Amino acid sequence: MDAADTVEEAVAALLTRMAPLLAASRDHAQKLDAEGVFASDDLAALTRAGILAAAVPTLMGGLGIGTEPARAVATAELLHSVGSGSIALGRIIEGHINAVRLVIRNGNEAQRVATAEDARAGHLHALWVTDGPEALRYIHIANGIELSGEKLFCSAAGHATRAVVTAMGPDGERRLLLLTMRQGEEIHHLPAGLQGVRSAGTGRVVFNGVRHGSATIFGAPGAYLREPEFSAGAWRASAVTAGALSALVDAARAELVSRNRAANPEQRQRLGRMYINAETARLWTLGACSFGEDADAKAERATAMVNLARIAIEAACMDTIQLVQRSLGLSAFVQANPVERMCRDLATYLRQPAPDEALSEAAAYFTDHPLIAGWD
Ligand SMILES: Cc1cc2nc3c(=O)[nH]c(=O)nc-3n(C[C@H](O)[C@H](O)[C@H](O)COP(=O)(O)OP(=O)(O)OC[C@H]3O[C@@H](n4cnc5c(N)ncnc54)[C@H](O)[C@@H]3O)c2cc1C
Repeated sequence: MDAADTVEEAVAALLTRMAPLLAASRDHAQKLDAEGVFASDDLAALTRAGILAAAVPTLMGGLGIGTEPARAVATAELLHSVGSGSIALGRIIEGHINAVRLVIRNGNEAQRVATAEDARAGHLHALWVTDGPEALRYIHIANGIELSGEKLFCSAAGHATRAVVTAMGPDGERRLLLLTMRQGEEIHHLPAGLQGVRSAGTGRVVFNGVRHGSATIFGAPGAYLREPEFSAGAWRASAVTAGALSALVDAARAELVSRNRAANPEQRQRLGRMYINAETARLWTLGACSFGEDADAKAERATAMVNLARIAIEAACMDTIQLVQRSLGLSAFVQANPVERMCRDLATYLRQPAPDEALSEAAAYFTDHPLIAGWD
């Protein structure tokens, strides 16, 4: 932790250190996207500023970002600001926080201590749960396990030095594994690249024949999908999205001003709706973060609130993309214009798992527990 007197001061100092680095990441994003190159330098600068270590609980030498309910609002602010600089970096940092959180909540003492030390030492953790055609499996061998299969849509593939993955065991149970990378796994580009978020290094990782010690297995069978943690944790991706939305709205505003079109009444109407959308997304993030970070307290309500937040923020983003494209016209489709990339990045990152189910489950909950019943 910093020399600051309190955790709050240390978090504030971290956010201050990050601000110029995030402004720089916004400047770099266009070139990295064009070249499809991983945001290594930006990530290294943020790591030096302490962003990876911040996910470690305070009692283990971190700031509890994403791992302690008391840091919910700070986590929201951090992810929102990273997303406003670069949605690709937001994806990478969000994955790191989720991975560290899973180990801290489910690992044994030795695994928790090792992860805390690694994160403090600047090891980037990834979370890869999406299976490819050959789902990831393991078998027991002498002194450990042997893996087969692959993971798809792996952000920071080839860059993360630790990865939390889900894998099916010989007993048919899906378990969490904490893997040290560079043990022989193969990193591939996606067969067809993603349209957006192109500097998150999202690839395919093949683990055939890779061996690890048994101590890599952590948590109970099915721990990854255990509720409310699984659904309620989705708010963190939404926080990144809300940050990216705020940056898009600001870029559209700046272009309209510079083209002397912002005072036009129809443009003002659209700008007004964009500002409402950006603030709606920010407020939903703030509303959902405390539920999400302390989901065990009111499990069903937390899940339902986060599910509503997810869909509300998704709707705000999709509406804004249309408003921006209508407002700027063809300029929003010129590849040299950062707005074009920002729309692509946002549209791509909005594709998170099972949105229909999220809204249906939230609707079912609030039909039985009307929202009007209280503010808490
Ligand atoms: C930039 C980026 C980086 C990523 N990085 C990672 C990573 O590091 N690790 C990782 O594990 N994953 C990663 N992912 C993958 C991500 O976690 C999700 O798996 C993926 O985005 C799911 O999107 P989808 O639209 O295919 O979801 P789906 O859940 O398939 O949703 C598509 C549509 O189908 C509907 N639907 C869903 N289930 C059903 C069903 N059973 N029957 C009928 N309809 C259904 C949904 O409601 C939705 O309308 C990344 C994704 C992106 C975009």
